[in-house]
Amino acid sequence: MNYDVLKKNFEKHGFHTAYFETGEEAASYIKEMVKGKAVALGGSVTLQEIKLNEVLDGECALTWHWLEPGAETLKKAKQAEVYICSANGVSETGEIVNIDGTGNRVSMTIYGPQKVYYLVGRNKISPDMHSALMRAKNVAAPKNALRLNRKTPCAANGGDRCYDCNSPERICRATVIQDRPCNGVEAEVVFINEDLGY
Ligand code: SF4
Repeated sequence: MNYDVLKKNFEKHGFHTAYFETGEEAASYIKEMVKGKAVALGGSVTLQEIKLNEVLDGECALTWHWLEPGAETLKKAKQAEVYICSANGVSETGEIVNIDGTGNRVSMTIYGPQKVYYLVGRNKISPDMHSALMRAKNVAAPKNALRLNRKTPCAANGGDRCYDCNSPERICRATVIQDRPCNGVEAEVVFINEDLGY
């Protein structure tokens, strides 16, 4: 991971950035940043792997639908001051790609909270926007469909690639390429020098 390049390009686009060697260090940093605030987490294997919900437990008012599934939790998450998620693809040139089925995560990253943190492992980084988009489509989405046990061609083939399916269980329904933080939202990309999520 070339943090100097990432920092330069993301900050040029109006994002804040931070860098940590480990997920544990990144989680401690987030804990200090969000103390006492209303915080919602997006669905994320990265956040699960660094046990962010456990680190934040008792430090803030936390909402996470992976802990308490259901429409009520998603509704409550909309009121959060801070939203934390990862990304399906990140370009060295300063763009973030996310693909959602429900749209809760992508909507929260562009409208609603005052601050958004993206926690990004080194495995998520691609050279440019097109390769970040291809990564999101052909690596992250199929693996997520497999994890969710969806009846989709990508899951049936072990999450090998996207087949641009028309399955009723398709998880790819909204693709957001964020090249700047949206008006009124402060966004920070926290780079972590470990492989996290997919
Ligand atoms: S569009 Fe269909 S085949 Fe492609 S990754 Fe999404 S669910 Fe899988």
